[in-house]
Amino acid sequence: MTKKKNLEYEPKSAWKVYSSGKDIKAMDTMAANYLKFLSECKTERLVMDYVRKRVEKAGFVDDLRAPLAFRFNRNKTCFLARKGRRPLSEGFRLVGAHCDCPRLDLKQRPLYEDTDICLAQTHYYGGIRKYQWLTIPLALHGTVVQKDGKEITICIGEDPKDPVFTITDLLPHLAYKEVVKKVSDAFDAEKLNLVFGQSPVVNGKNDDEDIKEPVKRKVLEILNKRYGIDESDFFSAEMQAVPAGPARFVGLDQSIIGGYGQDDRSSVFCALEAMLEEPEPEYAQIVLFWDKEEIGSEGATGAKSYFFEYCMEELAEAWEPGARLSKIFMNGSALSADVSAAMDPDHKDVYEPLNAARLGYGPCFNKFTGHRGKVGANDAHPDYIAWLRRIFDDAGIPWHMSELGKVDAGGGGTVAKFLAVYGMDVIDVGVPVLSMHSPFELASKADIYACTLAFREFLKN
Ligand code: MN
Ligand code: MN
Repeated sequence: MTKKKNLEYEPKSAWKVYSSGKDIKAMDTMAANYLKFLSECKTERLVMDYVRKRVEKAGFVDDLRAPLAFRFNRNKTCFLARKGRRPLSEGFRLVGAHCDCPRLDLKQRPLYEDTDICLAQTHYYGGIRKYQWLTIPLALHGTVVQKDGKEITICIGEDPKDPVFTITDLLPHLAYKEVVKKVSDAFDAEKLNLVFGQSPVVNGKNDDEDIKEPVKRKVLEILNKRYGIDESDFFSAEMQAVPAGPARFVGLDQSIIGGYGQDDRSSVFCALEAMLEEPEPEYAQIVLFWDKEEIGSEGATGAKSYFFEYCMEELAEAWEPGARLSKIFMNGSALSADVSAAMDPDHKDVYEPLNAARLGYGPCFNKFTGHRGKVGANDAHPDYIAWLRRIFDDAGIPWHMSELGKVDAGGGGTVAKFLAVYGMDVIDVGVPVLSMHSPFELASKADIYACTLAFREFLKN
């Protein structure tokens, strides 16, 4: 008797698909590299430094006429391209991800002294749950550009010998009033101030000066000694406070990767690995890493900017002179590589289980994003999804289809719609993540592996 064809669908566990010794070894190697990448790349600029190193080693050059080309924009966003066997006008395969993450930016005039403590004021970047950023060690990364154009890179708190920064919180003994407040009222953005120091400049040495804020002065003296900067240099600086220290394995089985910035640096990692592993594509490969997604893809380095278009214009001129840009765009296929929310066993009430992303089932595809009635969503076309189903199923890659959460529970957007305006096919895909936008996000080791293989399959097909 022949076995009946399965009419029902069940997602496949990536752990079961990748249970061979060879896969496990490859998965572990990849996880180790991923941990290193997350620990090293705490800002979009650091991601760019990492990407530049990797692509230069692989033979990419800063010239869009070359068959292996890159273009960086203000060291916060980049465009990578590899020529395919077919002409550009027949289409391209694009994977786009964002390299910016929620964090606490220093205000342009951050430093002040209160109660003999020097503090630095912040303005949070992206969607954070403020209480998650209190009483944890934070590192400070930044770029200062002085009036003469001198650029200074700041990094304090990543080396175990470095001091860190932190934001204080109320002790439970005195929080009786606070604990009955709504979460949205209880945490004030103006109280997200980083502790910068507590010791004053010692009088005697500065006898002739009337220093109003001696603790702040001490902090400024240290900054000046270490970096040659003064208070006004913060005006032309971008300083970010991010969770200090390396990414770690989570769980006794080390199956989960815990670390800051996996939304969306997991996609950056998977896309870069995939591109470097597929050197002979049928169609041109394009990989884009954008900045500013977390604040709406605005600005000259966000996905709403014309940077991508400018790069494509140059590419077309060099690779296929005379080809119409509109034709090239319309024939393109893209993955908007971004994480989605994995169903959290402690918060199941905001998920709809049948359509929720699950940790350990490979990358999840979101046909649409948006909120309340798909508002603001790109909605991927069925013929495109059918093609993707075929290539991933043929390659035996575990993947699943998902929605962010319950229909009216909330929502979110990605860069997908900014690619869709060109007429290309695009769908959202990425690894499922727990505790998204927190200082310590979780992703499954198996999903990182499966997602990289999925991107490879996409880029070579
Ligand atoms: Mn994202
Ligand atoms: Mn996000």
